[in-house]
Amino acid sequence: MLKGKSALVTGSTSGIGLAIARAMAAQGANVTLNGFGDAAAIEKERGGIEKEFGVKAIYSAADMTKPEEIADMVKASEKTFGSLDVLVNNAGIQHVAPIEEFPIEKWNQIIAINLSAAFHAVRAAIPGMKARKWGRIISTASAHSLVASPFKVAYVSAKHGIAGLTKTVALEVATFGITCNCISPGYVWTPLVERQIPDTMKARNMTAEQVKRDVLLAAQPTKEFVTVDEVASLAVYLCSDAAKAITGANLSIDGGWTAE
Ligand code: NAD
Repeated sequence: MLKGKSALVTGSTSGIGLAIARAMAAQGANVTLNGFGDAAAIEKERGGIEKEFGVKAIYSAADMTKPEEIADMVKASEKTFGSLDVLVNNAGIQHVAPIEEFPIEKWNQIIAINLSAAFHAVRAAIPGMKARKWGRIISTASAHSLVASPFKVAYVSAKHGIAGLTKTVALEVATFGITCNCISPGYVWTPLVERQIPDTMKARNMTAEQVKRDVLLAAQPTKEFVTVDEVASLAVYLCSDAAKAITGANLSIDGGWTAE
């Protein structure tokens, strides 16, 4: 489905982003990987994608807090593959603390990575997509783009911002064959969720098991974590021609969380 096209997935060295990058490659897209991590492990993943799916894969170490690095990464993808057709804004971090103790630098970092990075990437990618009259922009938002939870002020604010950015961009590019949507997962078992357990234990005075059962899965009526492959399948669907009328949408994949 995506043969001859190229996809850039920010924050794709781990979790949901990695699953999306692999799913795009499985559809024949050349991919740009991005994110932090062990250099050897990233190189192994990059080479593995090329071998398994018969596509080209490059890696960009661009830091999503740095607008110039984001623009350069978009340029590098276009230069290497001839076009950037699918942009997935996925990089994200979390911090859990009551607002009066919320570190200012964490607020700034989360707004930069989870929200502003998407603005910078879309801004850089749109001219090429408009010229080619085809593009798919997908952002990994969150159930927290629709509802809030306490102690996550920066994350919830950034994700609500992604929902607004998605709608605005969708309207601006609607007649150019470009769609812009966000996907809003509930709790997906990834390193991001695993890492917030100790802070939540502290903030709520709970054990790890209590956090999983009474905080995380308490919100999710199915009582099961969403899988990274389920999220990736939805991203692939949004790239299909069948999904060309879906734009400006915020698609929940949250086990019923936001239905409550
Ligand atoms: P993860 O921690 O497994 O992956 C995050 C990725 O972002 C990694 O590749 C990391 O290196 C990268 N990253 C972090 N800071 C970066 C920076 N400054 N520059 C470049 N890359 C950076 O997390 P995940 O759970 O896979 O989350 C991916 C996205 O999905 C995030 O936007 C997150 O908010 C969203 N999300 C996750 C869940 C969940 O339950 N896991 C639910 C809803 C939404």
